Formats: sequence, C-alpha cells, structure tokens
Amino acid sequence: MAAANISQIFVSFQGEGLHAGRRQLFVRFGGCPLRCRYCDEPESLLPVTACRILGPDGGRQRPNPFSGAELDGEVAGLVDAAPPLHAMALTGGEPLQQAEFLVVWLGAREKRLPVLLETAGILPARLARVLPWVDIVSMDVKCPSNTGERARWDEHEACLRLAVAAGREVYVKMPVDEGTSPEEVERGSRLVAGVDPGITLFLTPLTEPASSRLTIRTDALERLHAAASRYHPDVRVLPQLHKVLGTL
Ligand code: SF4
Repeated sequence: MAAANISQIFVSFQGEGLHAGRRQLFVRFGGCPLRCRYCDEPESLLPVTACRILGPDGGRQRPNPFSGAELDGEVAGLVDAAPPLHAMALTGGEPLQQAEFLVVWLGAREKRLPVLLETAGILPARLARVLPWVDIVSMDVKCPSNTGERARWDEHEACLRLAVAAGREVYVKMPVDEGTSPEEVERGSRLVAGVDPGITLFLTPLTEPASSRLTIRTDALERLHAAASRYHPDVRVLPQLHKVLGTL
C-alpha cells in the first residue's frame, strides 16, 4: 500500500466555506504543486520529515511516512478523544497530490465521519479517482492576479463538473485581496455559475500572515462582490474564521 506524507493532524473549527464554525478533524497532507503568493501553509508546500499531532493531551511528533493503518490509528485516537465532530477534513498542501494513497486508504477504512476534501481544484484526473470516497468538496477558484500562478480555469471547471456529476456537496472559495482583478473574479463567478448556479461561492478575504488584519478594504470587497454577483446568484463574503480565532 502507498504511504502518506502528513504534516499535521488536529481538531479545530472549520475556518472557511459552508461549514465554517463546525468542529472537524483535520488531516493536513504535505506537498503542493502550487506556490500561491498568499499561502498561509508554507510548512506544507513540501513533504515533511515529521508530522505534528495535536491532541487533548498536547502536541507530539511522529515521523513520516504513514501507512494507512498508522494514519487510521491516529485519526481514531483524536475522534474518540474529541467528540462531537462534523467531518474529517483532508487538507494541505494539496491532498490530491497523494491521490494514490487516498484511494487505497479511504477505500479500506471504516468510515466514522463524512469526508470533506479541501482542494485547489487543479488535478481533475486525481479528483475523479478519489471522489467515490468523498462526501463534501471544498474547492478553490484561484485568480492569477493574487496567486502569481498561471490561470487554471479549465482545471477548475473540470473538477467542479466531476464533483457535481457525482452528486457531491460542493462549494467554492475564491481568495481575494486588494490586488485581485475584478475581471478574474467575474470570470471565476461565470465559470462556477455555468457549471451549477446552486454552488455557493465564497469570496474569502485574505489576511496578513502575522495578524488577522484583512488585506483588502471593505469598498474593494464590495466591488468584487458586485462583480461576482453579476454572474452568480449566491455570492457570500466570509473571512477566515481560524485567523480570527487564532486557531490552526
Ligand atoms: S494551493 Fe494552498 S497550500 Fe498550495 S500554495 Fe496555494 S495556498 Fe498554499
């Protein structure tokens, strides 16, 4: 069986999207193919030698890689110690970079919680393989004007279409800051509504790395909301709750 590189396992409040405020167990995978300018998880961009596990009795380290059984053991320990939980969130980094492991692990394990996948939405072929074991897809639509990366519109659309066709609950987050192009917000909003106008679209104002201060003024946020709402019927602005709470 493939092995996984995990950077953190912990319980916290979901900070973004439709389930913000719900208590979830997070499994953070190490490694990401993107380098977004605003990335707030720089320690998860590359595989890490040890995983940090934060439980009710404090934190500890465990060396990578994890077999499926080893990861199950750690997850079960936290689930038992910290009920009630809404879901197990697979996050990163980019969890789909380790799709081979996910397919085997999720397919073999006893399911105790719904599985929520947080993904940048750029790896449709890998998403298709993992989707059978995922209940909720939390997907980013990324604007090149604030990521500094090339546009991924086609990949985003392909991922959304797969999630909708599979009947999964899906919502989209679009990170925005002062430099975000309104034209790109319009394009992303049109893309989401074109796949399914029932997919809730969240504009996620980014925060400064060292504080919970937003990197976008309210008037700029209102302009982006208006731009998105020209094409999408359900656009919501939601800051990152975990930044406000100072949690992971
Ligand atoms: S996709 Fe996420 S983890 Fe990867 S670089 Fe962008 S913000 Fe960071």
